[in-house]
Order: sequence, then C-alpha cells, then structure tokens
Amino acid sequence: MTHVPYSDSLQPFPVLGLPMHLVNDYDRWLSHRIEQRLGCHVITLNAEMTMQAEQNPALANIIHQAELVIPDGSGIVLYMRLHGKRVKRTPGIELAQGLLERSTQFGEPWSIFFFGGAPGVAETAAQKWRQSIPGISIVGVQNGYLKPEDEPEFLQHLKTLQPRLIYVGLGVPRQELWISKNRHVCPNAVWIGVGGSFDVWAGTKERAPKWFCDNHLEWLYRLYQEPWRWKRMTALPKFAMKAIVYRLTKRNPVSR
Ligand code: UDP
Repeated sequence: MTHVPYSDSLQPFPVLGLPMHLVNDYDRWLSHRIEQRLGCHVITLNAEMTMQAEQNPALANIIHQAELVIPDGSGIVLYMRLHGKRVKRTPGIELAQGLLERSTQFGEPWSIFFFGGAPGVAETAAQKWRQSIPGISIVGVQNGYLKPEDEPEFLQHLKTLQPRLIYVGLGVPRQELWISKNRHVCPNAVWIGVGGSFDVWAGTKERAPKWFCDNHLEWLYRLYQEPWRWKRMTALPKFAMKAIVYRLTKRNPVSR
C-alpha cells in the first residue's frame, strides 16, 4: 500500500471512475486531521454506493470532492485485488469506533456529536460509549428525523458547539448529501457518514458475525436480517459484473 502519512490531499486510486484513497492507517491519518483541525469529509465506499453514484451525479460529485474515501465494502477490496492492489477492508463502523477510542488519548478529548437514527437511538449509543470510554466527550446527539423547520436551529447549535468529530447516520445517500450541504457550519470538523452504526451501538440492530465479515458475506447476513433490502442489493452483482468487464478490457477509468 502507498504510504501517505499526513498529506493533506491524497492521490486517489480509481474504482469504476470514483476515487479511493490508500493510506496505511486511516485512524492515524484522521487523528492527525482532527488534532490539526483540518476539516474532512470521509466517505465509506462500498459496491452499493458505487452503483448508486452512477445514477446520482450529486452523490458522485460529493465522493469526488471528499478528502478521504475508504474501502468499506468487500466488493471494493475484491475490485482492488483484481487490479493488483491488496488493501485491507476498513468498515466505516470500525473506523468510527476506533476514533471514539482514540478521542481521549491526546491532550484534550475531542468533542464528538452524533446525528441520526430513530429517536433515542443515538442517545443510547452515546450513553454506552460514555460507560465504556471514561473521559469521552460526546457533546450532543440529535435523532435523524428532524423536521425541516427545525433544521436551522440545529445547524446553529452545531455551529456554536464546533465539535471536532461529527457522525451522521442517515443512510446512503441522504447522509452524504446532508454533510456536503452543511459541513460549512463546522469547517474544521471531521464528518463521517456512519449509516446504521448508532443502531448497532445502541443494540437495536446486530452486525453480522465475524465469520460473515471475514468471508466477504456481510451482505448475505444483512439480506437475512432485512429481506426488504433485496432490491438495493441487486447493485452487488451489477458491481461485480462491471468490475470483471473493466478488468478484462483493462479499463479502469481515471477519476475526474
Ligand atoms: N435514518 C435517519 N433519518 C432518516 C432516514 C434514516 O436517521 O430520515 C437512519 C435510520 O434510522 C438508520 C440509518 O439512518 O439508523 C440508516 O441505516 P442503514 O443501515 O440503512 O444505512 P446504510 O446501509 O444506507 O448506510
């Protein structure tokens, strides 16, 4: 893997025309950004999001503009292997957890905000983290079903708090669009779209057992848990077909 420890802008590797950033240790790279108050939007890329971006130019643009795009999904890791790059999968939920653990290890604990999930979920997740990480500074939570008329007040609240790390769990692509539109209120924060992580931390949803994750089958467990997602998941075979075709025709479109 290319070692790019603390460069502000990373050289992307193209994944079906979208950028992916190869960094030895994403936790360390982001810790540096948080410490230095260098704002950053982190995208946790998977096959489903890649296929969504083909149909959604706004999402594609946001991925191109993000300072850090990490390989969240097994499909991305397998794609990289097809192109001769061995990368370690970095699920967004694990990256987010790792940063919570690191948040108290520097001088002053990083201030953290949780936004998203059904009412009560982010609060329960925050309580659990407060119990397991002494000194953690979760300065606020907000459920993800905010009425549009309440949004200006919420944005003002974020602006006043200026958290160093902001997790937004509204699902893809809602969270990416929301972060892109609103990150200007806390330009020095690290913003991460964390999907359903608050549900997992709060205990309202279960993550796939390790065996499924290790064998690139997390999607299968998800399908068993949430069969109504089958339509979204048709993106996975589409992604695999495209990846193989690009490999065979030796095409790997260069990012914009
Ligand atoms: N969600 C939300 N507001 C909305 C729609 C969804 O806060 O308007 C939350 C929902 O409660 C869940 C998360 O977004 O906690 C979506 O989780 P999912 O695992 O589906 O995310 P994805 O797979 O899209 O990353």
